Amino acid sequence: MFRAARVLYDEAMQRRSLQAPLSGDCAVFLDIDGTLLDIAVTPDAVTVPPFLPVLLHRLAAARDGALALVSGRSMADIDRMFGTGLAVAAEHGALLRGADGEMLRAPAGHAALTALAAPLRQLVARHPGALLEEKQCGFAIHWRRAPDSRDALVAAATRLAGGEDALVLLPAHSAMEIRLRGADKATALAHFMQAAPFAGRPPVFVGDDTTDEPAIAWAAAHGGRGLHVGRDFAGSVEAVRDWLAADRETAGAAPRSAFD
Ligand SMILES: [Mg+2]
Repeated sequence: MFRAARVLYDEAMQRRSLQAPLSGDCAVFLDIDGTLLDIAVTPDAVTVPPFLPVLLHRLAAARDGALALVSGRSMADIDRMFGTGLAVAAEHGALLRGADGEMLRAPAGHAALTALAAPLRQLVARHPGALLEEKQCGFAIHWRRAPDSRDALVAAATRLAGGEDALVLLPAHSAMEIRLRGADKATALAHFMQAAPFAGRPPVFVGDDTTDEPAIAWAAAHGGRGLHVGRDFAGSVEAVRDWLAADRETAGAAPRSAFD
């Protein structure tokens, strides 16, 4: 019994020591799926541990609100999982909202996206297990439950959307993103960093995916740290959460939301 507990403790300490602690003066930017949460078979099937929203709100409070979730998910999805009151870059930065609830970037829909909706629904319906996620500024086609359909889905989606200048197609974990060109997670960080409470703080970004690489590079190039779950946390979401929970500044932070 003691031996098992000791092994668990040692493993936790090993995970915790993978990265230098967060500093109290940094601005924190966090991807969600594959970074804060283990990836599930569908986006709706993820599990949010009850401590995690509380931890994020406390990390934000300890930095005067300088923490943003930066995800491919919709704004509504992110609020449902973590509560309101956090700064959010949704849909890969196409939509930006400050911690005070003010929308900082919210483009109107685009004809190219509207035109794609019906053909993409028909395409996904022909591949049982595949899933179409419809967002305000794009789509994600998921094939985690239909891995054999991957090539056919990519080819058909590329045929449908690839010729449209306004759109960009990107690979993701067992998925393909189709979204409006011009916004990515790096531009989201750059936007947030222009104003309080983010401006003047070294940016720290953590992500796990191809779509996170621009933000990882941006944070590192702007006096902060760009961290990758696979390269810097041994591929462990739990290690990222332990690292965040080890932040000493957070212990004394005042609650900011109903979660507290
Ligand atoms: Mg991710």
